[in-house]
Amino acid sequence: MEECIFCKIVNGEIPSNKVYEDENVLAFKDLNPQMPVHILVIPKKHIESIIDLKEDDEILVGKIFTSINKIAHDIGIANRGFRVISNCGQDAGQTVKHLHFHILAGEKMNERIV
Ligand code: 5GP
Ligand code: ZN
Repeated sequence: MEECIFCKIVNGEIPSNKVYEDENVLAFKDLNPQMPVHILVIPKKHIESIIDLKEDDEILVGKIFTSINKIAHDIGIANRGFRVISNCGQDAGQTVKHLHFHILAGEKMNERIV
């Protein structure tokens, strides 16, 4: 996936502000934060979006959410709360075609989609 920005972040070709890293998962600050805390959590493996997940990816998705739990504790947003969003496809406005979960936090969120 030579053209994928997030694959380039995973392999170090593009710098990022890393928040968490393990064998399978990377988390880094969003370049264009929409909230005081705006972190992207991605699998190191290239998967385009939720709709491209295979059964073999079930453990990986679990690891992503365990990482989100760890990050929330590490950066001190676990108590006050946060929102996790994954935009999937055109109608949701997904701009980077590498599965990612936005962690948003740091102020009270009034706008609710759901
Ligand atoms: P999407 O709109 O696909 O759900 O989210 C893509 C996110 O990636 C956006 O919030 C955008 O600001 C962020 N982003 C795009 N390119 C880069 C980059 O090179 N570095 C970082 N840290 N974030 C990026
Ligand atoms: Zn990728």
